[in-house]
Amino acid sequence: FLKRFIALFLSCIIATRFNLCLSNSNIPFSLKTLPLEGHLSFDETSLNKASTDFGNRYQYHPVAVLHPNSVSDIATTIKHVFHMGPSSHLTVAARGHGHSLQGQSQTHGGVVIKMESLKQSEMQIHVGNFTPYVDVSGGELWINILHETLRYGLAPRSWTDYLHLTVGGTLSNAGVSGQAFKHGPQISNVQQLQIVTGTGEVVNCSEEKNEELFHSVLGGLGQFGIITQARILLEEAPSMVKWIRVLYSDFEAFTRDQERLISQDSAFDYIEGFVIINRTGLLNNWRSSFNPQDPVQASHFNSDGKTLFCLELAKYINFQPMDIVNQEVERHLSELNYIQSTLFVTEVTYVEFLDRVHVSEMKLRSKGLWDVPHPWLNLFIPKSKIHNFAQVVFGNILTQTSNGPVLIYPVNKSKWDNRSSVVIPDEDIFYLVAFLTSAVPCSNGSHGLEHILSQNKRILEYCERENLGVKQYLPHYNTQEEWRAHFGTQWETFRQRKLVYDPFAILAPGQRIFQKTI
Ligand code: FAD
Repeated sequence: FLKRFIALFLSCIIATRFNLCLSNSNIPFSLKTLPLEGHLSFDETSLNKASTDFGNRYQYHPVAVLHPNSVSDIATTIKHVFHMGPSSHLTVAARGHGHSLQGQSQTHGGVVIKMESLKQSEMQIHVGNFTPYVDVSGGELWINILHETLRYGLAPRSWTDYLHLTVGGTLSNAGVSGQAFKHGPQISNVQQLQIVTGTGEVVNCSEEKNEELFHSVLGGLGQFGIITQARILLEEAPSMVKWIRVLYSDFEAFTRDQERLISQDSAFDYIEGFVIINRTGLLNNWRSSFNPQDPVQASHFNSDGKTLFCLELAKYINFQPMDIVNQEVERHLSELNYIQSTLFVTEVTYVEFLDRVHVSEMKLRSKGLWDVPHPWLNLFIPKSKIHNFAQVVFGNILTQTSNGPVLIYPVNKSKWDNRSSVVIPDEDIFYLVAFLTSAVPCSNGSHGLEHILSQNKRILEYCERENLGVKQYLPHYNTQEEWRAHFGTQWETFRQRKLVYDPFAILAPGQRIFQKTI
């Protein structure tokens, strides 16, 4: 680590002293001279596209978009920017599927690298006397990995709720879903990475080799290098999934059951949950495509206007006889304290289960409601504070959940590697609470964006005021002081890693953690 630091220090001095002294207006010309297998775009359409994201609130205009054909295209571009020295102000943003929320995959006046163009050779699936794995490009979509690995009866172990995201994009954050309690987040299910650092060096890293870089990059918000390849651990894929939803009105009973379910010998493979506040006509809504176990009782359940908590479970089915699976599920459900008339069960294929959000995407797209502003707020909340949080936030601040789901589920800290860059609360169990709100246009022309933002602000202010030890997931801050507070005791390590792997702060400027000046 020290040797690497000294070598870099020297190369920084050389780069700075002999920098090409290019004025910013000459940048496109200098980029055009690069020997690339892929190509750079400078046209308005490409630049405009690269200055958007799913959040639909921030727009930074790049000067060029790189469509890499090879890892060496990425290395050549970054080396070029690095050798221009810090005075050029040119930065580089890897863009996965552009599903960030606040411009994290964008750069003002820099180069966007369209990672999905990096189609390396076919995905390589490896099976033997070891945990099976697949080698994939950092720009690959998880949905493609699912389809390819299923051809071998295998699949990754840990997911996000939505699969039209890239490997590099989710590994830069963590990648969390209902399987995380068992397998950890996606960053705990990676064995090896290939990285292009902020100096343009191509480095292979793992637990055994260049481990500092390996741990830095996982959850590293794109700050230390561009993930060009990843080795993802696989498991045997189930053929079907038994998907269950039950309701609670008592938050304590809900979290008690959730926490019991994520214990070591859990009978289920996926555990999530969500909050329902003041949603009328609920039964026609939340259980769509689910069948009530007891239709008569279910039809009498009146949910209107209540605050309810929905526990969502899944049991993977391989080749076990169905009656055995049903008996086992029934036995475990009988130990839970949900409202008995609200048991809803459905059986779907594994792909239908994992790709479920895409179905909602299609529906929303058809109504023009997908490309709206998304002022999302994602929080990790320590178990000891989740009740205080729920009382204030679900009891007072949030008055309805009609503009998008509010997810809530616990995970086990033991499944997270504390050497990675991601920041989590310091308790054995913590909750992910995700306010996935859409600012949908109203009939009066407004779309409630300001209202949602002020609600988010109130939630954050409450957490801060009461010192709840909450950490933002997919964090967003505007000042380095706020970033320091976010990282807490991890800040110094994060900063040192930045100095080593991206000393001129070229990479991922959209996170607004470091400025490109030395
Ligand atoms: P981008 O938005 O393109 O990039 C994100 C950041 O990573 C940027 O800073 C970018 O510069 C950097 N980056 C991108 N590619 C690379 C690379 N190859 N190497 C290094 N850095 C890179 N997250 C969860 O954990 N769980 C969920 O269930 C979940 N569900 C979601 C559902 C939807 C509908 C959406 C829109 C997002 C969801 N997310 C979820 C959040 C998502 O994981 C992150 O926003 C992720 O970063 C998006 O991936 P992307 O490929 O679009 O990345």
